[in-house]
Amino acid sequence: MGVKQDIEFDDSGLIASLNYVRNSSEENLQKLVSAAGNRLAYAHHSWSSPDERMTLEEFWTTQLSKVSWSPELEQNINTVKTYLLKQERTKWLTEVLRYLPNEHSFNTIVYLNLGYDDIVFGENVALNLNSPKFSIDKREAVYYLIHELAHAGYVRYHGLPQLENFSTNGELLDVVKFLTHLEGMGVLSAFRLRLSEGGLRDNDYKVLLNEKERIRRIDQYFELFDELNNNPHQKIEEYPSRILGKMSGRETRLWYITGCHMAQEIEKRLGRETLRELVRLGSQAFFETYLESAQN
Ligand SMILES: [Zn+2]
Repeated sequence: MGVKQDIEFDDSGLIASLNYVRNSSEENLQKLVSAAGNRLAYAHHSWSSPDERMTLEEFWTTQLSKVSWSPELEQNINTVKTYLLKQERTKWLTEVLRYLPNEHSFNTIVYLNLGYDDIVFGENVALNLNSPKFSIDKREAVYYLIHELAHAGYVRYHGLPQLENFSTNGELLDVVKFLTHLEGMGVLSAFRLRLSEGGLRDNDYKVLLNEKERIRRIDQYFELFDELNNNPHQKIEEYPSRILGKMSGRETRLWYITGCHMAQEIEKRLGRETLRELVRLGSQAFFETYLESAQN
């Protein structure tokens, strides 16, 4: 059967959060903040928003202040959870492993959480089972599991970069390249299953399947890319929220769209094995390969 894949699910954070939104006692808060999945989400938040300093308790009370308990809430979450856990493992694992280096072996916990985005941190991932997109279409939970596991696979080879203290455009560009490669592989990994099931509600895929809009986003991406690339030594004085906002923000999603496009082009021109191996080689090689193969 080949390589061992160690992927476990842990829903203790989800259960603790549901108990807390039903009854916000101090005791329930303490159980909530001691659950490993909830600690992972906080660690991710501290990494991704270095400008917002919050304690673990402040972070979770803020996150869950937006959620109010109802029987429907609990039922929706349980429906998504049951659906996700009853899926054949090979169904989603095959898709993830398709785009990771040969012989890749997972050692990952999938935390089921409530109230914080789908994320990767270290080699573990967390899914927000209260995400509206999952209750609209349960299959999205499987697609996002694939997406986050693609990230967990990627960070085996390259740790997440620091999202603060960029001192020059060139340093910021390295982070942009990293996240373009990371997100592009995440988006691509779920694409095949989505296409085969017609699960294409997610906006990234709507853009990718619309040739005109796809090109428009890629052009926007490379405008920002060139801005950094043409002046690599220029100092960065404040947090580059304009650029990072356009790269990751809901409206534009530039590094998701462009990263997936680049990966698809590399697969088309040079084959899937090259693309998989680039995960091991990293984002500089991913960009070089894309740009070189575009000239031939
Ligand atoms: Zn992602």
